[in-house]
Amino acid sequence: KDRCITKNKETVKIHSGGLIAYAESTANGDRSVEKELKETQKKRVLVLGTGWAGISFLKDLDVSSYDVQVVSPRNYFAFTPLLPSVTCGTVEARSIVEPVRNMLKKKNGEVRFWEAECLKIDPVSKQIFCRSSVDENLAGNNDFSLEYDFLVIACGAQVNTFNTPGVLENCHFLKEVEDAQRIRRTVIDCFEKAVIPGLTDDERWTNLHFVIVGGGPTGVEFAAELHDFIHDDLVKVYPSVKDFVNISVIQSGDHILNTFDERISSFAEQKFQRDGINVLTGHRVMSVSDRTINMKKKVTGEDVSIPHGMVVWSTGVGTRPVVKDFMEQIGQGTRRILAIDEWLRVKGCEDVYALGDCATVDQRKLMEDISSIFKAADKDNSGTLTMEEFEDVLGDIIIRYPQVELYLKSKHLFEATDFLQDVYGNDKKEVNIEEFKLALSLCDKQMKSLPATAQVAAQQGAYLSRCFNRRKKCEQHPEGPRKFRSGGRHEFLPFQYRHLGQFAPLGGEQTAAELPGDWVSMGRSTQWLWYSVYASKQVSWRTRFLVVGDWSRRFVFGRDSSRI
Ligand code: FAD
Repeated sequence: KDRCITKNKETVKIHSGGLIAYAESTANGDRSVEKELKETQKKRVLVLGTGWAGISFLKDLDVSSYDVQVVSPRNYFAFTPLLPSVTCGTVEARSIVEPVRNMLKKKNGEVRFWEAECLKIDPVSKQIFCRSSVDENLAGNNDFSLEYDFLVIACGAQVNTFNTPGVLENCHFLKEVEDAQRIRRTVIDCFEKAVIPGLTDDERWTNLHFVIVGGGPTGVEFAAELHDFIHDDLVKVYPSVKDFVNISVIQSGDHILNTFDERISSFAEQKFQRDGINVLTGHRVMSVSDRTINMKKKVTGEDVSIPHGMVVWSTGVGTRPVVKDFMEQIGQGTRRILAIDEWLRVKGCEDVYALGDCATVDQRKLMEDISSIFKAADKDNSGTLTMEEFEDVLGDIIIRYPQVELYLKSKHLFEATDFLQDVYGNDKKEVNIEEFKLALSLCDKQMKSLPATAQVAAQQGAYLSRCFNRRKKCEQHPEGPRKFRSGGRHEFLPFQYRHLGQFAPLGGEQTAAELPGDWVSMGRSTQWLWYSVYASKQVSWRTRFLVVGDWSRRFVFGRDSSRI
């Protein structure tokens, strides 16, 4: 029979004829068949996670060249940008998820999926240890291990509580589909409790005070959704308590949506003020109990406590335990987040790649690297380079750090671009290294790491699959794209992020959008742009149909207030 054999921890898929040839040849001491088998065998690629990064990697991967296995504790992909809509029933949970097996079946059964959580990565023996996420009471083993040649870590991030006391026990999070469903039930619970006879007014106020910690895009969108849910639907079915409802957004910074353009941030603050949503900026949450949330005013240091019925904690992301443990093994234990290079390779570990929210391109050493490139080029230690040498050096820097090119091109960075125009001028024969480094150090402050968004994760996944599809070619050119100046660019360029803009839905059929080229758009027409972009970005026609159907249902019948 055709079968697989495992030798020296490598699985070889061979047909029966091959196996006999292998057995005969090894018995005779002839290693040629073994060598041939090794050469023809597929490399094992193991992917951790079925989120934006993992699925985008698998979507375009040429699986005929690899033996691919996928491990994830959930057997579906979730369209996270619509999670806030699930919390209030604008969109149903099943409409935003797509079964992984549905997506993988397009690969003609060449990708194997295991519904399990990876508990440990062992980079030395190149294997991972997993535990099945399926009901423990079912027959059979739960723990198993898998070996790999290439590991792609795309297991996202977890919520970050900043070790604030009481958060884990008393707050809701909005990260997974189950979180959104839980929030929906709790909102209804708060209303059902508030209408029970015999409650004091204070108790009704407390039960109907919804607090959101974090004024970033997710927190703001949830606050807006909740406001619409309450004012469009719930006040009609719970009219007796409509005056007791309160929504508060707590933000430690000075403004909500502070990663957006200033115009969007102030538009959102004004809209929330009109809608009666309290925005408490400059407040830091110190602890959360089952009934109150305790804060400190940043400016005065004053302690403030407010009662709550429900708190949603939405303040950024942290590293998952399995990634933290892996980081310690590879000497990245002191870092906050797993460092990768521009080719998405984990620093300090062969054949392991990481993408999406679980990793970030290490930019701490950017200026150090740039200095050493200059130092190597300045052979006579004169502190200057000829135009020709400078062009080479700049080419090298831009290839290694594409963000430098973006920076130099950016219209905000006049000093650097003026400087470059100056050095590229005809009459200038030499370039002063210190002057150029000074210009670059100005941009260093602005070259922040990439944001933790689905956009970045999906682009990284697509990029890595292209690299894997061209692996052979790249192996022949491990130095990467060195031919910047003379021979043209090599195909295997470092990952370059293309920002396509971002949305901030603000409720009441109004959305703000920041589009490429510094375009800002706000209001009802932008909401229609949001509908069309999000419908078009769905991963399948099935979910597209369901999501658009849910939106239409909401327009006609409103949202459902049953607690299921
Ligand atoms: P994820 O999508 O989180 O996927 C991680 C995968 O790894 C999951 O399948 C998980 O089950 C799996 N996994 C976890 N642990 C393990 C383990 N131990 N072993 C194996 N597998 C594991 N971004 C935008 O660009 N636009 C938006 O509008 C937007 N809105 C958002 C709204 C909300 C409510 C949230 C929570 C996020 C939003 N984001 C948005 C951010 C975006 O969802 C993330 O940046 C994106 O999901 C990151 O992709 P990822 O693949 O790295 O991680």
